[in-house]
Amino acid sequence: MEEKSLQSLKQHSELLAQFIIRLSKFYEGFSPDIDTELQKLRGHLSGRPDFTLAAVSVKKLNKTLRLADLTVRKYTADTLSQLEEAVKKLQHLLISEPALTKESAQILISLNQPVQSLFVLQSLCNKVLQLFQYASNVDSEDTYAARNVSTSTLALQKAILDELSQLIDTYTSKNPEDVQLQALRAKLKKGMTEDELLQSCIAIVRMVVQDSLSEASLSGKVIQSLHNALGDIQENVSQSIERSQSNFAARQSSHQEIKAKLDSIEDQLRQAESLEKLKKQAQAYLSSMASTLSEREEAEQKEQAELMTLLSAMQGQLIKLQKQTQHYRKKLAEQIVSTQTDALTKLGNRKAYDERVEKECQLAIDKKTPLALAVVDIDYFKSINDKFGHAAGDKTLQIVGKHLKSSLQTKDFIARWGGEEFVLLFPETDTKELKVKLEKIRVSLSKLPLKFRQEKISLTASFGGTCYRVGETPSAMFERADRLLYRAKHSGRNCVMIDQETI
Ligand code: GH3
Ligand code: MG
Ligand code: MG
Repeated sequence: MEEKSLQSLKQHSELLAQFIIRLSKFYEGFSPDIDTELQKLRGHLSGRPDFTLAAVSVKKLNKTLRLADLTVRKYTADTLSQLEEAVKKLQHLLISEPALTKESAQILISLNQPVQSLFVLQSLCNKVLQLFQYASNVDSEDTYAARNVSTSTLALQKAILDELSQLIDTYTSKNPEDVQLQALRAKLKKGMTEDELLQSCIAIVRMVVQDSLSEASLSGKVIQSLHNALGDIQENVSQSIERSQSNFAARQSSHQEIKAKLDSIEDQLRQAESLEKLKKQAQAYLSSMASTLSEREEAEQKEQAELMTLLSAMQGQLIKLQKQTQHYRKKLAEQIVSTQTDALTKLGNRKAYDERVEKECQLAIDKKTPLALAVVDIDYFKSINDKFGHAAGDKTLQIVGKHLKSSLQTKDFIARWGGEEFVLLFPETDTKELKVKLEKIRVSLSKLPLKFRQEKISLTASFGGTCYRVGETPSAMFERADRLLYRAKHSGRNCVMIDQETI
C-alpha cells in the first residue's frame, strides 16, 4: 500500500513537473521573474522532490503572477482605448463608404465589450488593421480619382502653354538675342512638366514686370527732364524779371538824376551873373548829362544782350524738350502697336479686336449700317502639329493669316483670336453678303497649295458668322458667331454657318 502511494506520488510529481515545463514554455519571455521562479520550481520537483521549497516557489509565483495579471489588464485597457480612438478617427474618412462605416461601427461595439482573453484582443487588433488597409485602398482610389481630375486640368495647362508661347513670341520679336527667351522657347517645344510650366510662367512674369518697369523708368526719365527743363526756364525767367526790376530802379534813379540836373540848370540860369560863367556852367552840366545818358545807354545795351542770351537759352531748352517728347511719342506708338499685334502672324491680337469691334459697333449704330462678324477655325489643325511638328503648325498659321487678310477689303478687319482661330469684321455687310464673302474665302482657303515634307496638305476651315444687333454687346455677337462655328464643326467642318434669323 505504501509502495502504491509512493508510486502515485511519483506519478503526480512527474505530471506536475511536465505541467510546469509547459507553463514555463508559455510564459517564456513574458517576465524574467516568472521565468526564474518556474525554473526553480522545476528544480524543487525533479529527482527527489522538495515540497517545502516548492511551496515557497509557488507562493512567490502566485504573487508575481497576480502582479503580471494587473499589468496585462492595464495594457489591454490601454490598447482597447487606443484602438477605439484610431477607429473613431478613421470613421470620419469613411463617410462616403457605407460598408466600411458599418464595419467600423461593429468593431467599436466589440472594443467596448469585456475582453475575455489576449486572443480576443489580438483578433480585434487584426480587425482594426484590416479596416485601415481597406481605408488606405479607398484613399489611393481617391488619389487615382484626383489624378483623373488633374487630367481634366490638362486642358487648362494647354491653354497656359499657348498663352505662354504667345508671350514668348512677343518678347522674342522685341529681343531676338535674349538667351533666357530662347531657352524658354526650346523648353516649350519639348513639352513641360507642371513644375517647369510654373517656373517658366514666373520667368515670363518677371520679364513683363521688368519690361514695364523699364518703360515706366523711361517715362519717368522724360518727365524728370521735362521737369528739369521747365525748372531751368522758370529760373531764367525769374532771374530776368529780377534783373529788369533792378534795371527799372536804376533807370528811375538816373531819370531823377537828370531831372534834378535840369532843375539845377534852370536855377543856375535864373541866377547867372555873367555870360561867361553861364557858358561854363552849361558846359559842365551838359557833359555830366552826357555821361549819365551814355551810362544809361550802356546799361540798356547790357540788358538787351542779357535778354538775348536768355531767349536763346530758352529756345535751346525748348528744342531739346520737343525732341524728347517726339521720341517718347514714337516709343508710345510702338508700344501700342506691339501690345496689339500677334507676334506669330503679325495680325492684330484679341486686344486689337476688342478695341476695333467697339468702334465698328458704334459706327454701325451711328450710320445705321450692318456690321458682320465671322469666327474662323482651322479644321483638324492639331493633326498638322502632330504629323509635321509645331514649326509646321506655326508656318500654317502664318500662311492662313496672310491669306485671310488678303481676302479682305481695306475697311474690313482681321485679328488672331487665339490658337488656330481668327475673327473677321466686315463693316457695311449684311448676312447675305457675309455668306457670299465667307463662302468665297472658304473655297479659296481649301485650295491653298500647302506642302510639308513633300506631302501635299489640304487645309480647310469652318466658319460661324452673324450680324450685329443694336442693343447687344460685342461679346454677345461674338458668342453667337462662336456657337455657329461650333455647329459648322458638328456638321462635318469645311462649311459656313450663318445666323438664319437675320438672313
Ligand atoms: P477642330 O477641327 O475641331 O478645330 O480640331 P483642331 O485640331 O483644329 O482643334 P483643337 O482645338 O483640337 O486643336 C488646336 C491645336 O492648335 C492644339 C494646339 O496645340 C494648337 N495650337 C494653338 N496655338 C498654336 C500655335 O501658336 N502654334 C502651333 N503650331 N499650334 C498651336
Ligand atoms: Mg481647329
Ligand atoms: Mg480651335
